[in-house]
Amino acid sequence: MPDTALPFLPFALPDIGEAEIAEVVDTLRSGWVTTGPKAARFEREFAQFLGAADNGESLHCIAVNSATAGLHLAAEALGIGPGDEVITTTHTFTATAEVVRYLGADVKLVDIDPATLNIDVAAIEAAITSRTKAIMPVHFAGLAADMSAIQALARRHGLKVIEDAAHALPTTCGGRLVGTLGSEATVFSFYANKTITTGEGGMLVTRDAALAARAKVMRLHGMNRDAFDRFTAKVPSWYYEIVAPGYKYNLTDIAAALGLQQLKRAEAFRARREAIAAAYDAAFGAGSGLPLVLPPRAQPGDTHAWHLYVLRLADDAPIGRDTLIERLFAAGIGCSVHYIPLHLHPYWRERYGLQPAQFPHSQHAYERMLSIPLFSRMSDGEVQRVIAAVRAAVTPPVAP
Ligand SMILES: *Cc1c(COP(=O)(O)O)cnc(C)c1O
Repeated sequence: MPDTALPFLPFALPDIGEAEIAEVVDTLRSGWVTTGPKAARFEREFAQFLGAADNGESLHCIAVNSATAGLHLAAEALGIGPGDEVITTTHTFTATAEVVRYLGADVKLVDIDPATLNIDVAAIEAAITSRTKAIMPVHFAGLAADMSAIQALARRHGLKVIEDAAHALPTTCGGRLVGTLGSEATVFSFYANKTITTGEGGMLVTRDAALAARAKVMRLHGMNRDAFDRFTAKVPSWYYEIVAPGYKYNLTDIAAALGLQQLKRAEAFRARREAIAAAYDAAFGAGSGLPLVLPPRAQPGDTHAWHLYVLRLADDAPIGRDTLIERLFAAGIGCSVHYIPLHLHPYWRERYGLQPAQFPHSQHAYERMLSIPLFSRMSDGEVQRVIAAVRAAVTPPVAP
């Protein structure tokens, strides 16, 4: 265990307040604990959060029990299947890619742009074949991928776009919120360490009414009417039909209760994370003389969701990444690495015969990166503690 008098500072902690607790208790007392009125309200309020009313378009928001489920439903509804290829970044969590394999299609992993750590648009273009059906960009760490270039490329080649927005609430791209950029589907995550949480949960967002209708049916067993509809109708309504072998991906009202209250705080959470990131930038930036590379910035005028603060060691740093993480752990600070790129994992490596040399930028970043604590509940004292520990860990000791 770390040798420190201070309590261990974890890499991430959820920020659950009394309002969330009261909303969950209200749900428990209501008699409706699975998908019902609160899940429906969460979907409506999520659409309002994305500003569906403002730009006069109807966004369909479909609450699900994970972002993985949402990505799966989106790809299924777009008809992706055996023989098809989907292009995504190697520098992501396996969930992005695994859903393509659920459907029997193949994944084409491509490298990142080292300046943004997001998927490299030129690499996408080079990977397109006659079998390519879709592109899945990931807004890494909460920084928008280059969506105007990706959407233009998709239009030219007749491809669908599914945005993995697990890190991107709220992120803007060209001044517009991710979720409203016009891709076929955008999927948010409410996993425990994400920018808002429902414990487990996700939201599939689309403008496409047919995609939304299919995803709603497949979310609940392939039933053409959901349970809330059936049990709350004014007339006897025991009848339903199964129209496909669907999944069990619905979000419970207990989880949606958390989401309703977390969504109200999403902007305050973002502002706090942005302030912490600014403190880190000031401490670790060029003026510091430390052998560190700061995370990429958002474009001027755009919002970074700051889900993660990903530091990289400079090429000439005196210590390696693993040593830095060990020293921070010894100082009572938890870190993580986002991500071990998919091309290094046995399943992906062996299925597609991948080599690190095919992904030089992801590999280079991976070997030098770590994610340091960044969550809204961190105190200023804890932020200063992380700064001091990182500084001490990368500064060579002065000879006696
Ligand atoms: C967390 C995450 C997911 C999966 O989200 P779940 O809600 O846990 O299914 C997918 N993609 C990325 C990039 C993530 O970080």
